[in-house]
Amino acid sequence: MLLTITNEKPPATDLGYLLHKKPARVQRFSLAFGAATVFYPEASDNRCSAVLLLDVDPVGLVRPKGGETAFALEQYVNDRPYAASSFLSVAIARVYGSALKGQCSDRPELVEQPLPLTAELSAVPARGGVGVLRRLFEPLGYRVESDRHVLDSKFPDWGESPYHAIRIAADVKLRDLLSHLYVLIPVLDDDKHYWVGEDEVEKLLKRGEGWLVGHPERALIAERYLKHRRSLVDAALTRLLDEDQPGADEIRTVRDEEEEVIEKPLRLNDLRLDTVHQALSHVGAKRVLDLGCGEGKLLRHLLKDRTFDEIVGVDVSHRALEIAHQRLHLERLPERDTKRIRLLHGALTYRDRRLEGYDAAALVEVIEHLDAPRLRALERTVFECAKPETVVLTTPNREFNTKFETLPEGRFRHRDHRFEWTRGEFRAWAEDIAARFGYAVEFAPVGPEDAELGPPTQMAVFRR
Ligand code: SAH
Repeated sequence: MLLTITNEKPPATDLGYLLHKKPARVQRFSLAFGAATVFYPEASDNRCSAVLLLDVDPVGLVRPKGGETAFALEQYVNDRPYAASSFLSVAIARVYGSALKGQCSDRPELVEQPLPLTAELSAVPARGGVGVLRRLFEPLGYRVESDRHVLDSKFPDWGESPYHAIRIAADVKLRDLLSHLYVLIPVLDDDKHYWVGEDEVEKLLKRGEGWLVGHPERALIAERYLKHRRSLVDAALTRLLDEDQPGADEIRTVRDEEEEVIEKPLRLNDLRLDTVHQALSHVGAKRVLDLGCGEGKLLRHLLKDRTFDEIVGVDVSHRALEIAHQRLHLERLPERDTKRIRLLHGALTYRDRRLEGYDAAALVEVIEHLDAPRLRALERTVFECAKPETVVLTTPNREFNTKFETLPEGRFRHRDHRFEWTRGEFRAWAEDIAARFGYAVEFAPVGPEDAELGPPTQMAVFRR
């Protein structure tokens, strides 16, 4: 694995001072997982390149507890020696530590100087493709070039690999370039195979200081850097963003398998979507919002029904929207359908003019993901500002939980749920909303009703 950094501003060999590595010497460093070598293939006044060669020893790697291995030999046969990954970030911090911190005792004035720098990486596993590569580096001002490697040049039929040779260039301070690489290399790699803990949040915030908060892909960066561990992503984003800024609650709260497994025996998901679909049709809605659309299950239902002219999915999670985009095949829809559907990124806790003027809005299994202050904010966004004619809203009925065999007593159906309400609690909340914002509300069960406990899901239909 090679990382080459080139400076083209004379005297280009200033790079040696900034990196604390003399161009004339080859230096070796031993690391817990292998060895690093730094050398300069070119060191002239006009152009100076420093190479960090990282040699990862796959046999010497011991996977920490909590990691999963995909196959028995994976510990020994994997891409880690060849691909840029978090190992390279660790090597950057070890070998170029002073430069990363912006220390240069010999020539301190150099640290704050943007230089025409280029970084080249020989094999980056860009998960999500070149699009992701560009979305990560271009907002930081880099020109990005990439070349995709084939899997095996002897067998071209095998097709392309996920690995790219990449080259990014900008007028940038060296320490910023190193921070960007430190954070974004593992993000491109998106390896879920090892465990991350709280200290990774600190590293992300430290290395992301000054640039991550303004990065349009900060949610994706935090999610991938923190290995999709929701509580860490939540902590990082909340600390990163001022509470008042839109996006403070960019938390990945997509309903995942956990809840689906619990509810599956009842086919509750399908029933819920059918019931909501019917309720929307019943009021004659043509232009509808799916607020907290997640991965787009309801959107798919609605898209098939031509009575809906305009269907808009809104979610705070970039990741959910990415998945929705793929599942709905938005790239490949016939034109008459592409005109009917749109996905918007947005937080329902902030007033959003794009949501005004619709016939109806669905909120399917969303409110229970919000803590009390955020739910208060959502109420105003939906019922006071967006003000659709009809709101169809569903949430679990907690009374029914004892009937789910796989759900331990006292637990919610999903880890991210902040509450699950009884029928009485839901009714009281919905009636208060209706009274405050000038709606009438009716309730309906979703799923097989138990004589005592009621239905598994409860629905309210608000009409203005
Ligand atoms: N309606 C979908 C998803 C439900 S999960 C379904 O039934 O499958 C809850 C969804 O609400 C998640 O996708 C989550 O990202 C989204 N969400 C949570 N808080 C949000 C907020 N403040 N603004 C917008 N979306 C939010």
